[in-house]
Amino acid sequence: MKRKVVVGHLYPDYLNIYADRGNMAVLERRAAWRGIAFDYRGVGMRERLEPGEHDLLYIGGGQDREQALVAADLVLKADAVKEAARRGAAVLAVCGGYQLLGRYYRDRSGAELPGIGLFPHHTVAGERRMIGDVLLECVLDADGPRPLAGFENHAGRTILDEDAEPLGRVAAGFGNDGESGYEGCRLGRAVGTYLHGPLLPRNPWFADWILAQALAHRDGGEPQGLEPLADDLEEAAQKISAGRAKARGGRF
Ligand code: GLN
Repeated sequence: MKRKVVVGHLYPDYLNIYADRGNMAVLERRAAWRGIAFDYRGVGMRERLEPGEHDLLYIGGGQDREQALVAADLVLKADAVKEAARRGAAVLAVCGGYQLLGRYYRDRSGAELPGIGLFPHHTVAGERRMIGDVLLECVLDADGPRPLAGFENHAGRTILDEDAEPLGRVAAGFGNDGESGYEGCRLGRAVGTYLHGPLLPRNPWFADWILAQALAHRDGGEPQGLEPLADDLEEAAQKISAGRAKARGGRF
């Protein structure tokens, strides 16, 4: 039987800036090149989310305005998202979506948007936006530290709880708050990050890591390594992106 992954894309019409939708296209291609079907399902406003239906839940970034439009509806899906993650579905949340999967996002006007509390963090917008290329060092499995390169543009400063696990250490750029030296958050197979770009085309190892988590949810058992692909172009793109981040150096 042909292998497949079922992907739920939360609010594709509202939360999709800096080409975040491109992450779906990359996963679709990398799955197809391994003969794996990619069953893409948008999950919008007032639409039910069935825990267990999706192997991967994805949510992109957005300006404060778009976040305010979806926040109340997302809270109605909170239990389903958390139950899906508890049952082992993979989650990838980018920037504005990453913020709303925490406890709350207080925007620059002081308005507090409720989050769903999947990730152990909260976010408060600051005066200056944190913009530019970013380079992280991530240790997600036994393969040891690996680079993650992307682009950030956010006013929010995300504060992780004491015992929370970040996605990676900031080698160049601002990251969660421009202070802690860390970026993103990881909770098992659920990952949140500020990295746009889109993120996955220039980080093939991470795209495969996400795909492997989703397949493990469908097939049961532990995530398995995927058949390697010829990623010359992708790795060249990562080098360029990482080079720009290093050239930009540290913080403010
Ligand atoms: N509106 C949020 C902020 O400014 C998220 C921005 C984004 O998704 N790029 O921090």
